[in-house]
Amino acid sequence: EDTAEESTSAFIGAEDAASLEAKLDARVRDLLARMTLDEKIGQMTQAERTSFNATNPTTDIRDYGIGSILSGGGSTPEGNTPEAWRKMVDEFQKLALSSRLGIPLLYGADAVHGHGNVYGATVFPHNLGLGASRNANLVRWIGRATAEEVSATGVHWTFSPCLCVVQDERWGRSYESFGEEPEIATSLSAIIDGYQGLPGRPGSILAAAKHYVGDGGTKFGTSTTENYLIDQGDTQVSEAELRARHLPPFKAAVARGVSTVMASFSSWNGTKMHAQKYLLTDVLKKELGFKGFIVSDWHAIEQIPGDYPYQVRTSINAGIDMVMVPFDYKPFITTLKAEVQAGNVAQSRIDDAVSRILREKFRFGLFEHPYSSDRYADSFGSKAHRALARKAVQESLVLLKNEGRVLPLASHGTRILVAGTNADDLGNQAGGWTITWQGMSGHHTMGTTILEGIRQTAGKRSTVDYVKTPTAEQSSGYDVGIVVVGETPYAEGPGDRADLPLRAEDQAAIDNVCGATKCVVVVVSGRPLILTDRVNTMNALVAAWLPGTEGQGVADVLFGRRNFVGKLPITWPKSISQLPSHKDDPGYDPLFPYGFGLKY
Ligand code: BGC
Repeated sequence: EDTAEESTSAFIGAEDAASLEAKLDARVRDLLARMTLDEKIGQMTQAERTSFNATNPTTDIRDYGIGSILSGGGSTPEGNTPEAWRKMVDEFQKLALSSRLGIPLLYGADAVHGHGNVYGATVFPHNLGLGASRNANLVRWIGRATAEEVSATGVHWTFSPCLCVVQDERWGRSYESFGEEPEIATSLSAIIDGYQGLPGRPGSILAAAKHYVGDGGTKFGTSTTENYLIDQGDTQVSEAELRARHLPPFKAAVARGVSTVMASFSSWNGTKMHAQKYLLTDVLKKELGFKGFIVSDWHAIEQIPGDYPYQVRTSINAGIDMVMVPFDYKPFITTLKAEVQAGNVAQSRIDDAVSRILREKFRFGLFEHPYSSDRYADSFGSKAHRALARKAVQESLVLLKNEGRVLPLASHGTRILVAGTNADDLGNQAGGWTITWQGMSGHHTMGTTILEGIRQTAGKRSTVDYVKTPTAEQSSGYDVGIVVVGETPYAEGPGDRADLPLRAEDQAAIDNVCGATKCVVVVVSGRPLILTDRVNTMNALVAAWLPGTEGQGVADVLFGRRNFVGKLPITWPKSISQLPSHKDDPGYDPLFPYGFGLKY
């Protein structure tokens, strides 16, 4: 079991840690005492990079003392190279530093499986695959590698890890979860150690534990024709259940010194999280002792029922410290000021929020090193990071079936047919949050597909033919067929589904290949798919989740260069009617249970 031992005090000793904290607090107090109300509210404001336009000039960053800017989803600067990012962030930073007090800004982005939105970054498996590995050390290294690539683009803060504990895989964010049981996310919150390192040292970035709390437990709606059936919904559980199933990973994140927590779009028993003072302030800040700051989610305070002034005061009074106000930040600034002046928000609440934000800026060395450096330029998409990602892919795979030991494949003189829609599609392998918010099919960044990995590994005397959608006749004359099937990319609510079937062309590929030769089916998807009785026709079955850019990792294991170590992080159901299901339910009878996974 991995604990939160590598907190600052474990590294440097309790006494030194205490004096460091005291120094931080003194710097915060000193600066806060010199700030006007306007400057404080500026710090609490997070704008989207694209909100600076003809109506909102970038000089607002200086004039309002904007505390933070983000790249929401796949909002990338033109060119989308590390150099383009650094130039953009440094330009914003220059404006922030030219404000009266010269307080540096924090730039945040969704580097949720590596810095996936930037062209050429190393893209690691999405969290569900990492959950299959159960390897806290591995994810700690992934956190560090990601932090270096994020630093190479001048960005200070990643909105990761998602510590959601998925309860219903029809949810479009299932793959952002480490698994359906809280202990996996609790252990793998170790990725925070990698992101944050020793705060203030080069290559350390702020992490955001998200989405607090219960985002993985929202209910399936009644409509089956629209998206947003589950995402941003209501988690209807008792407090005991909320604490037992959804809170533990956040507790671990706080113990690791996580610098920020993002509030969830979802509700708990009918009340939006952004209005939940009990959970945000009493539980997270007081009971768990969270010292960092809480950032809202995108436009999320606007989901609190009521007018805008009510939404602003309710969320700030509940404990939100920084508000993500994409597009137009001015209404937030003027409204919060008016609410403070009217006595609806206490000055002490503002001071607390700003102190928390400044504290993280001091802690992470923003005042000493506000600008980007080229120190990690060579690490971006580097060989070493790709080797780490390849190892992560190997460890994320789960062997669900291996009849007649069709796997591992022999790498000499084997006639191999590769088929299926996800065999040669880097975009499908990487999933959502890659280059764009929703992700996209096709060769949109640098990396190796599963087919390319198979070709590299198959051995000289073997032959590898690739036919995406083979017919029955095409499929004979081979020793083995590898059919790589699955989903196309999506993210958040647009990925909610009422049903999770295999695509028609994948069904046909499986039927044709498995009907003609021994076959291995590899599922590349953000969640278990419903395989129906077709599963009986497969000789071997592998869950590959969303492996990212290093497709060779799949080939390494198929050819036995590595053994399987992954275990299901989520139940694999037989039919959609079994959802949501849980291993403690009476009558739990899935296709493959939680924790299942074979080896050679
Ligand atoms: C998501 C967050 C993400 C934010 C910024 C929201 O839609 O819920 O997870 O960090 O956008 O892109």
